[in-house]
Amino acid sequence: MTTDLNLWFDPTRCFIGGEWVKPSGQQTLPIENPSTGETIGAIARGEAYDVDRAVTAAHAALDGEWGRMSALERGRILTRIGQKVLERVDDLARLEALDVGKPLKQARADAIALARYMEFYGGAADKVHGETIPYLDGYTVYTLREPHGVTAHIVPWNYPMQIIGRSVGGALAMGNAAVLKPAEEACLTAIAFAAIAEEAGLPKGALNVVPGLGEEAGAALSSHPGVNHISFTGSVGVGILIQEAAAKNVVPVTLELGGKSPQLVFEDADLDRALPFLVNAGIQNAGQTCSASSRILVQRSIHDEVLARMSERYAALKVGPAASDLDVGPLVSARQKEIVSGFLANLGGGRIAAQGRIVDGVPAGGHYLAPTLVAGIDPSNRLAQDEIFGPVQVVIPFDTEADAIAIANGTDYGLVAGVWTRDGARQMRLAKAIKTGQVFLNNYGAGGGVELPFGGIGKSGHGREKGFEALYGFSVLKTVAAYHG
Ligand code: NAD
Repeated sequence: MTTDLNLWFDPTRCFIGGEWVKPSGQQTLPIENPSTGETIGAIARGEAYDVDRAVTAAHAALDGEWGRMSALERGRILTRIGQKVLERVDDLARLEALDVGKPLKQARADAIALARYMEFYGGAADKVHGETIPYLDGYTVYTLREPHGVTAHIVPWNYPMQIIGRSVGGALAMGNAAVLKPAEEACLTAIAFAAIAEEAGLPKGALNVVPGLGEEAGAALSSHPGVNHISFTGSVGVGILIQEAAAKNVVPVTLELGGKSPQLVFEDADLDRALPFLVNAGIQNAGQTCSASSRILVQRSIHDEVLARMSERYAALKVGPAASDLDVGPLVSARQKEIVSGFLANLGGGRIAAQGRIVDGVPAGGHYLAPTLVAGIDPSNRLAQDEIFGPVQVVIPFDTEADAIAIANGTDYGLVAGVWTRDGARQMRLAKAIKTGQVFLNNYGAGGGVELPFGGIGKSGHGREKGFEALYGFSVLKTVAAYHG
């Protein structure tokens, strides 16, 4: 079955200690192509025993070649991995499109981002270090910045390559040894990444990959006493379980969770510039994006105009198989489609303003859903409060700046916000007043640069990945105080 995928690695194996090993239970999980609903292959179903082996192998790497490597050498290897990822961009994009249903162009952008993470962290590996601290006469005090040890990486299915890049890349740069548990819905590029890292000369055990189910391999990894740091990206519910598991072993945890991110559009905004951002931020990756902008807050005087112009764009959106590279692909699974359809089945007084179009002849088994723009709902409506994780946006009017801030801050989340206004003082006020991890002024997402620290507040999580900030999080300071008289 797997031969159709034209793979250069065996996804039914785990990558542990530099070896490609069958999972202990000899079990596999099916790979579904969301564009057709067909099973196109199988991945390893790793379990607690495999996780334990991976954690042991990671510790052995820290005691061996990997642990002895200089930051410069680590950086060179990461850079080499990035170069090899670039050579494989087309393969990686093809696999991601098959596995996640992501239109090819978007999948390609993810593969290029993975390479960029490796390049950035490769270059940064020897630039994050301790410092000397002026202290009492007779003392010399300095800090050493050291790896945590073994880092666990539990990642979701929506942007596997980008999230592996930002999380595993940062951890390796600081000299940690990583154990990666990809999402059961999307493992192929994670396993491909391990094969590429091996080819690039990453020492054995520095990266280990155990595919499997969340409640099996994931739970075993997050509760393993040999893990020294956990980086989790995923849902709030599972994030809470991860933090509980981390608490039992008293290990630090980074949680990158969901969002309900608003864009605030004021009457003085440059609408020609804003319009594409308003819509794209809701439909990219079929809305299955943590930073998706699912709430569009519009000043009442321009509400109808913005709604009409967004509706026009929605009506032009085409939905189809990943390979046909249209605006929107299928949702990742039947379950995800059911969840999103559930939201649309009860609009709570709202109305559908516009929808995209599923093109003719899409495979019957694919999980297609027309992007939907909803108007006329109250900010307290569940469509305006809960993360939908599908191509659905709501447009809500506001009157004053204070109203806009209150609505923007009126959810449990705090990941991203966009602000559209030409008034510079207002931009500065809002950048401070909005309770999120990042605020984008007259843009949304800033092109996703790997240099920009990223993370949430509230139920969107805590800790930062990307940029140099991630490297502080993936390391720990030791203070050395010497008395010499
Ligand atoms: P999920 O929480 O269901 O799964 C994420 C990962 O956790 C998967 O690898 C899964 O196997 C694992 N897992 C599940 N149960 C587990 C358990 N009991 N113990 C340990 N691990 C377990 O999330 P998902 O559906 O894959 O992803 C969607 C969610 O991820 C959305 O809420 C989205 O907003 C969020 N997300 C956040 C960011 C961010 O940067 N903030 C980025 C991407 C996705």
